[in-house]
Amino acid sequence: MVEETEQSDIQKAVEAKRTKAASPEQKLAELKRRLLEISGLTAAGSLLSWDQATYMPKGGGATRGRHLALLSALAHEKSIDPALGKLLDDLLPYTDTLAYDSDEASLIRVARRDFERARKVPAGFTARASAAAAASYDAWVCARPQNDFAAMRPHLEEAVELAREYAEFFAPYEHIADPLIEAAEEGMTAARVRTLFSELRRELLPIVQAICDQPAPDDSCLKGYFAETAQLDFSLRAARSIGYDTDRGRLDKTRHPFTSKTSSGDVRITARANENHFGDAFFSALHEAGHAIYEQSVAPALDGTPLGSGASAGVHESQSRLWENLIGRSLVFWEHFYPLLRDTFPNALGSTSLETFYRAVNKVERSLIRTDADEVTYNLHIMMRFGLELDLLEGRIEVKDLPEAWRARMQEDVGIAPKDDRDGCLQDVHWYCGMAGGAFQSYTIGNILSAQLYQAALEAAPDIPREIARGDFGALYGWLRENLYRHGRKFKPDELMIRAAGAPLSVAPYIAYLRKKYGELYALPQSGQGSKDSI
Ligand code: ZN
Repeated sequence: MVEETEQSDIQKAVEAKRTKAASPEQKLAELKRRLLEISGLTAAGSLLSWDQATYMPKGGGATRGRHLALLSALAHEKSIDPALGKLLDDLLPYTDTLAYDSDEASLIRVARRDFERARKVPAGFTARASAAAAASYDAWVCARPQNDFAAMRPHLEEAVELAREYAEFFAPYEHIADPLIEAAEEGMTAARVRTLFSELRRELLPIVQAICDQPAPDDSCLKGYFAETAQLDFSLRAARSIGYDTDRGRLDKTRHPFTSKTSSGDVRITARANENHFGDAFFSALHEAGHAIYEQSVAPALDGTPLGSGASAGVHESQSRLWENLIGRSLVFWEHFYPLLRDTFPNALGSTSLETFYRAVNKVERSLIRTDADEVTYNLHIMMRFGLELDLLEGRIEVKDLPEAWRARMQEDVGIAPKDDRDGCLQDVHWYCGMAGGAFQSYTIGNILSAQLYQAALEAAPDIPREIARGDFGALYGWLRENLYRHGRKFKPDELMIRAAGAPLSVAPYIAYLRKKYGELYALPQSGQGSKDSI
């Protein structure tokens, strides 16, 4: 026994000497090797999760949960290994010799931030939080259809407590939600999101009111019969046209659509079809394709490193939203695709004009369910949830009062209130599968960024809409790949936006986009408060 310890001490000393003597290039290679191991474990977990949500037989559930927990524990262990921290310390002076935007300097910088963040959270907390999340999710799956908020109350109370506890690992902070928001959006704070959202809310409320004062467009053309296979084939065809590479991806059916990545050579999307409604499958497939195109287009040299994915949740969402809404719900897009769609579904759409169809897919209405909401009211759903999250974290409202607070705010902002909690505070899974906080803001940040990026693309290549009308997406995709996609996580969201769009996050282009598009669709007066920029 003594002999073995002595031997391992000698090995450690030899290893320490070898590492100390290594050149920066050798240390960098060692860093990459360690990071590849972590991303390999994460990728294996992603594939298991994808399988769980697509083809796994029901009986695999319990074991799959255990396998996933094991992979995530192994990845966490490796990501907080003190030897990794030592390597990053050793490499710090080396970054001074490298250009800030080089792959190497970016890798050391981002890996260091990830390491510092990971090691602040004790493994015991992570295990406790995952167990609580799994129990809460299982309960929510039954409680939501049964409209049983009482069953979820203790789970949600625990989720709020866990979120507060998590925030403490990152103290001091200005607002208790800051560490949770920062985990999704580097550089973002509760105060900044609040300012952004209040500016947007002020602009949105009168737009929604003006639209709802107009007669509602007829969207009955979307409610015919649309065979599932044909819908999915058509969706994949459109996804391919906009840039989704099916040699490095595939589309499968699932219940709640998502994108899954194991490497830039394998980025899969999923969809769910409703045969009595055109739109659910198509727009969600386009949304997921937007996420997937981003992941497929990160520079190959960054693959398998912490730089090899999108910059943040909000920047990612900007790409799903850009392709789903700014492009996928635009008139020029359907000028190209509508004849093909009508040929695919002649019985359902044979007598519907392009204009009627375009109005139908852009119908704005006050509705209860966030995921079904249109482009204009969607953000009101998000802001309300963000406000409630802050109130719960600050202790200004208690979990037991959430259903009532939800109804009151829905009525105030969206102008409609749910009759039950199933369509109220139980509708989204976010608070019931993890910590309650930092979950929602990225959706609206994504919407705001999508318009800002599209505006920048149009300034660089004004022919983009005419090309889209011909079914050519090359110029837009090329601009996005060059200015956004290829960089992966090299830059923080604000840095990336300054590089790509010339300015950090700004609401003006998004408001201008909504005013112009919906002003035309609903014949609204074009003057009003806010920005007059147009895109
Ligand atoms: Zn998304």
